Amino acid sequence: MSIQYIILAIFTQIRSIFLTMKHMFAKRETRLYPDHSVYLSPRYRGRIVLTKNPDGKERCVACNLCSVVCPVSCISLQKSQNKFGRWFPLFFRINFSRCIFCGLCEEACPTAAIQLIPDFELSDFNRKDLVYKKNDLSILGTGKYHNYNFYEKTGVYNQIDTSTKNSAHSIPVNIKDLLP
Ligand code: SF4
Ligand code: SF4
Repeated sequence: MSIQYIILAIFTQIRSIFLTMKHMFAKRETRLYPDHSVYLSPRYRGRIVLTKNPDGKERCVACNLCSVVCPVSCISLQKSQNKFGRWFPLFFRINFSRCIFCGLCEEACPTAAIQLIPDFELSDFNRKDLVYKKNDLSILGTGKYHNYNFYEKTGVYNQIDTSTKNSAHSIPVNIKDLLP
């Protein structure tokens, strides 16, 4: 064992003692969760929800994009169709025991139906309870996108919602005009 090594070892010991003493009187960083709530940014990727259009109707059109893009294949759904030809998910399930909260499903979704919200309190004792069905995922509100309605933005001509007063629903759009 060289002298140089011994000096270095003594120095690291002194440094450790110094750092310990320094932090002994510093402000406490420990958060007393759950007694004190934790601040999470609005863009935090936690619990996944299925949101509604501003008119309160289901946003999801069962396009399966979220399921395809999911790297762990934890989303499963089945498409169905109403009498106006509008697609909707007959069932929609997310297995949260596999989800890695990457947010790719939210990015892929054209209708802004699926969203990740700042809520991380999802733990459970039973693994089966981590499989969330459509009823567990659905919320009444629009989530982060308050005015977004897929059919108004795309201009797709449809007979889905003839009761609406918004004229954007009845104006057919030539999608080829949008091409470069
Ligand atoms: S957050 Fe990622 S892992 Fe979780 S359901 Fe969405 S795509 Fe899948
Ligand atoms: S949540 Fe979005 S991406 Fe997934 S099926 Fe519904 S509309 Fe498509």
